[in-house]
Parts: sequence; structure tokens; C-alpha cells
Amino acid sequence: MPTIDALTERLRHYLDGPQIQVVKRAFYYAEQAHEGQYRQSGEPYITHPLAVANVLAELELDFQCLSAAMLHDVIEDTGIPKDALSHQFGEPIAELVDGVSKLTQIEFKSKAEAQAENFQKMTLAMAKDIRVILVKLADRLHNMRTLGPLRAEKRRRIATETLDIYAPIANRLGIHRIYVELEDLGFNAMFPMRARYIKEAVRKLRGSHFEVIEGIKHKLEFKMKEMGIPGRILGREKHLYSIYQKMKAKGRSFHDIMDVYAFRIITDTVDNCYRTLGMVHSVYKPVPGRFKDYVALPKANGYQSIHTTLFGSRVSIEVQIRTEEMDHVANTGIAAHWEYKNQEAGIATNQQIRAQKWVSDLLEMRERSDDSLEFIENVKFDLFPDEIYIFTPKGRIMELPGGATPVDFAYAIHTDIGNSTVACRINKNLASLSEPLKSGQTVEIITAPGAKPKASWMQFVTTGKAKSNIRHYLKSQRQIESRNLGKRLLKKCLQAFDKTLADIPAKHVEKVLEHNQSPGIEALLEEIGLGNRMAYIVARQLAFDNEKIEEQDSKANQDYKQPSLMVDGANGEVLMLAHCCKPIPGDPIVGLINRGSGVMIHSEACNKVKSILHDSDQCIHLSWAKNIADEFSVALRVGVVRQRGVIAELARAVSVADGNIEKIHVEEQNARMSVVSLIIKVQGRNHLAKVMKRLRNLRVVTSISRLK
Ligand code: MN
Repeated sequence: MPTIDALTERLRHYLDGPQIQVVKRAFYYAEQAHEGQYRQSGEPYITHPLAVANVLAELELDFQCLSAAMLHDVIEDTGIPKDALSHQFGEPIAELVDGVSKLTQIEFKSKAEAQAENFQKMTLAMAKDIRVILVKLADRLHNMRTLGPLRAEKRRRIATETLDIYAPIANRLGIHRIYVELEDLGFNAMFPMRARYIKEAVRKLRGSHFEVIEGIKHKLEFKMKEMGIPGRILGREKHLYSIYQKMKAKGRSFHDIMDVYAFRIITDTVDNCYRTLGMVHSVYKPVPGRFKDYVALPKANGYQSIHTTLFGSRVSIEVQIRTEEMDHVANTGIAAHWEYKNQEAGIATNQQIRAQKWVSDLLEMRERSDDSLEFIENVKFDLFPDEIYIFTPKGRIMELPGGATPVDFAYAIHTDIGNSTVACRINKNLASLSEPLKSGQTVEIITAPGAKPKASWMQFVTTGKAKSNIRHYLKSQRQIESRNLGKRLLKKCLQAFDKTLADIPAKHVEKVLEHNQSPGIEALLEEIGLGNRMAYIVARQLAFDNEKIEEQDSKANQDYKQPSLMVDGANGEVLMLAHCCKPIPGDPIVGLINRGSGVMIHSEACNKVKSILHDSDQCIHLSWAKNIADEFSVALRVGVVRQRGVIAELARAVSVADGNIEKIHVEEQNARMSVVSLIIKVQGRNHLAKVMKRLRNLRVVTSISRLK
């Protein structure tokens, strides 16, 4: 059993005294925190964090990482807060522990295989510091090593997750050693019979082919010596799970796959790598198209080797050639970047230098190969915070760009969901639709039948899909509304000539369309609705079908009558309520034609329209329909005595009168008085009168007026 003393001994090789002290202190702290807790196996809980730290010590990681490993379950399992850890061990270690705890919390939410890829990315994205992932991988490795005592179901669940998520992450980060062990442990737990079969088959095969393999090895070794290339040759075994996956994926038999002998040649310099390559090609013929030079073009995760395949007498021989240094990187991957290099300056303590090295390595890798782009794409740190991962309530993971909001999320699920969104919950709490989302949140979209996208959403959505859908909706909505408005205006005007559109001969309609350069009647109606054509003029052109159209235009100017329209609702893209005077049902109103955008509904008393009320080119008669169900905004100015609780009193009065407060704002005040501006929703003038009466009756209210 590993002990803290044995670990300390190991750390002496690459850490200095004070750093080892911190790791030891973390151990004793965790031991005390986990006091009385035991693992399934019956061992004291502290054996687990100690083992995790040991795994990381094998990768020669720094003291902060090791301390975090000791403490990694403290926040989660003992309820000690992060603050306490940062007080004891400093911010960096507390941050690492916190990061690991957060990853642990999102675990197990999703098990669908198709989600694995996204889950991997999310795991990486959530870890601000890559060392969080390293601690997590070591934690997972030790848990996999000690799966035995768990219930079968739990064992399988952890094993599936390991194969789907953690082994691929280890592979992606180039930590070959952990990757292979995770896969084989996962395979063993999932398919014990198959694992045993393949293990046995490999053992037998190795026995029966022993002489052939040794023959090839000796031949190559002899040649190396002859050419004076230093180094060693290792036989190479594929790990069990990769053999199994190849059998499964390619439908090939065990013997097919194992008909390949694999060797690794490790030499001292890059130069000798290429000399070795020449050597093996002179002994065996290379298989065309199988040669890969990852020394000149390293893989994204830093992996370097020369790969070649040779024709043996009956079998093919795969050879990897690399230096000791490359071999080391191949086994430890990203962890190699955190190693302590035994140089004068205490580099191990300098976080920034190492972080910078890591970043510059990344950038360098990006320059070196196309693959690197994919690597950076897949490995997200806070340096590359351009993607977030969000759960649906059912555990599906959606990938969104950073800054995305619940509306973007809704459109990412489905256009129909986006279009009918009315509200949302983030982690089960009601939240604003414009709130930027964070990785790992669960977002539930609340929809309502008949709900419509809002123009205001355009101000905060970030995804192209949401933008184009909202824009498309608004545009088609405007089109529909402007056509309807145009149709209604034209109908009214035709009535003046005792005609309806159906009365006009098709041929004459054609002529009118041509005269107005309109491609069709719908387009012409739209133009009328948008205020680009006068309904009365078009009506006249249509009504007099036996006279010249041009003549009608001049006559129209003389005998023009304003059409009059009913307004039957509050919201529209073409028939819109003016914000300046906020008219409500009951107010006398007038429509101001805005060329190209439709008709604004103003109160007749509004300063903007007072002077042009009778200008028939710019205004149309409007009246309110009966029984409008919508609510309308209205602005009030209320003078009140300055005292405690006065706002609450106003709010209560409005709500008792069935009004709805939209906005409340104290505009000015002195020692005695305040002026409060209110925007409230009412159904019409009668309703407003009721609300104002309630307010006026309050003892604190000294004055009240509606703003127009
Ligand atoms: Mn753990």
C-alpha cells in the first residue's frame, strides 16, 4: 500500500523541500477531512487521494497539481468550502480543487453514445486549467483500478463513461500510458469474457510466433550495430481494447489483425531516426503508401515518430522510429509540459512560464500542421473560450458559441421551439431570455402555442440560426401585415366608388399593375400597406376602367377622400402604436403614413400630428374596434409625498384596479416630494380612468397626470 512517506521519497527526485511540504500538508489536511469515511473496499478514504497523487507523481507533475490531487474530493465529500482551502493552500490549489469538483458534478448526466464527443469537449472547456483534467484523469484511473467492490450496474456505468469520455481525452492529450490503461480497464469491466479471450489468444500467439519475432528483431539489431546507430528495439503489443475495436469495426478475425508484427526503435537523435529508417528499408521492402513522418510534421498533441510498414517473409512488420525524448512525450503527452526541468532557476514554481510555454507550443503546433487546428478546436481552455456546452432537460448536449443566450439555444434545438419561446429556466430557475449561458448549465425553454418571435431578440442573439429565423419571421410578418393593411385601405377607397376588387375586370387590373410597375396584386397591396402608394389613387385607377389611367391620377388629387380604418389590436409590424403619445382604446387616433414602414398610430392630441391632421397625403382616419382584448401601455406622472413604502402603495393600488406595472421610476425628489413616472398596461380609457381614480384616492398622492 502506498504511503505518504513513499510518495515523499519519490517527490525528492524532482521537487524542492518547501514544495514537498505543501503536498504533505495537503495530505494531512485531507486525511483529517475524510476522517471516518471509507471506500467500498473498506479501506480508509484517504488511500484514494494518495493513490491519485501517486499517479500524477509518476508523470512528474508540479506540487500544486499533487496537492490538488490530495484535496480533490474534500469540497465534494466533506463540505469544506473552497474559501477554507484557498486560505490554507492559496488560490491556485483551491482553484484546481474547485475545478475538479465541478467536473465531478456534471458527470453522469448523459450517457448517450452520440453525446460522447460533445461531452469530451465540454469537459475540456470547463477546465480553465488543463491540470484540472490531469487530476480528473488520475482520479478516474484509480477508480477504474479499484472498481471491484462496486455493484455490477455501477461498475458498468463508470466503465462506459471511461471508454466514451475519459480514455479519448487522455488519448487526445497524448497521455498514452493513462489512455491505454483506462481503455483496458474499461474493456475488462464491460466485457470480461471477451477481454479474457483476447488476452489468452495474444499470449498463445506470442508463444507460437516467438521465434519469428526474435528473428526479425535480431536482424534489425545486427544491422543497427553494423551501421553504428545507438539505440534499442522493443517488440510492441497492441493493447487489448484496440485489438477488440479493430475486430469489431473491420469485422476481421483476431488472427487477421495479429498478423502484423510491431516494433519500436528508439535511438538518440533525429538524424539517427532517419538513418534507422534507411536501414530498415534496406533490410525489408517498405509497403508503399504506409510511410508517415511525424518527426517532421508532429501530430497535434506533440506526438513525434516515423512510421513505416515492411514486407516480412509471410507477414507485415510495422516499425516506429523515435528518439528517447519523443518516446517520453508519446507516453506522457501534455503532462510533459509540466515537468520540472532541473535547471538553476526555480522553473517549477513559476506558473506563468510554463503556461506560456504551453500556449506557445500550441501556437507552434498550429503552424506546423493542419491537424493542430483540430486539436485547438477540440482542446478548449479559457484561452479559447469560443464554445459552450448546454444540457437540455433530457440530458442532450448542445454546442453553442460563447455568449449565446436561451433564445439561441431554443433555435438550436428547433426553429419551431425558437419561434414559440416565451420564457426559460436555467438550472431550474426562471431566467431572462437574454442571459448569456455558461457551459454545463441545464436550460429548459418554455413555449406557448401562438407565441411569436420578438423584434427585440435581435439585440442579444448571437447565433446565425436565431438571427436569420427571427429576421425571416419579422419580414414575412411585415409582409402579411402590410398586405392586409393595403387590402383594407384599398377596399375602403373602392367603396367610395361603389366597387370591390372582385368587380374589376382582370384585364384592367393588369393594366393598373403595369402602370404602377408592380409584379402582381399582392405586391401592389404590400406597397399600399407600407405607405409607398396611396390607396385612394390606386382605387381610382381601378374604378374607372374605360378611361385613361393617367387622367385618374390627376383627378385623384382633386377629389381625394381619406380612407378610414379600424384598429383591432396593440401589436403589429406595419400598423404600430406610437411611443410618443401611447394611444389607448378610447383616445381619438390618427394614422401617420411612414413611407416604406407602414402606419404609426398617434393620438390626435399628439404634437407630432397636430399640424398635419388634415393632410390627406400623410394621415389616414383611424378608429378603434370594439372589444379589443390586448393591453396597451400608458405613461403616468404621479406626484407623491415622500415617505417610506410609498412605491409599494402605488403598486398595490394599480394592481387592485387590475392594471399592470411595466416600469416604475422615481424621476425627481426633494425633501418632501417625489415625482414618480409609471408605465402601466391597461385595456383602454375606461380602465385607465379606474386605475387613476384608485391612485388619486391614495392619501400620499398629490397629483396625477397622463403623459401624451
Ligand atoms: Mn476521487
